[in-house]
Amino acid sequence: MSSVLNDVLAANAAYAASFGTKSELAPPPARRFAILTCMDARLDPAGYAGLREGDAHVIRNAGGRASDDAIRSLVISYKLLGTREFFVIHHTNCGMEFFTDELMRSLLAKSLETAALGPDGFHDVGSGPGSSEGAHIAWLTIADQQASVLDDVRRIRSHPLVPAGIPIYGHIYDVHSGRLIEVPEATSAGRAS
Ligand SMILES: [Zn+2]
Repeated sequence: MSSVLNDVLAANAAYAASFGTKSELAPPPARRFAILTCMDARLDPAGYAGLREGDAHVIRNAGGRASDDAIRSLVISYKLLGTREFFVIHHTNCGMEFFTDELMRSLLAKSLETAALGPDGFHDVGSGPGSSEGAHIAWLTIADQQASVLDDVRRIRSHPLVPAGIPIYGHIYDVHSGRLIEVPEATSAGRAS
């Protein structure tokens, strides 16, 4: 069996053994907010935002982008589970800054093996065949963190299914300090009315 699988199952057994009163938690987030953030392994939203089980919704994808699917989750979050405030949190040194749609599509067209990151960016080291299916996906890459947070806050703010009364805050998490740095234009664009 894979050692990752073994390790995860062993960690889970230990977690479940001291599960305690978490069995009594209700589905709606007790603190009534949702965070949209990146899947980056260095980010621990529970740690950086002070969350415990049952507190908040955390929606994660590559970049923490306001994709159609992230919006689907945010709409369910407020409409059915009562959240009242949203955070969009991107981060410094995000992998989404190191490629473009064009590059991703060309890498995938050549090989499905993991690409290597060199001084000039990602390049394929694996063998083919690849697939042209990458051309049908918008990869939602990031050229500038401040701009991407602002874009995503604006997209959520202007979405017809998101009520005007929900404030949306925009921040960048600094992977070198652990701090959340506000993007004031984004928070301003996300103000509730
Ligand atoms: Zn990231």
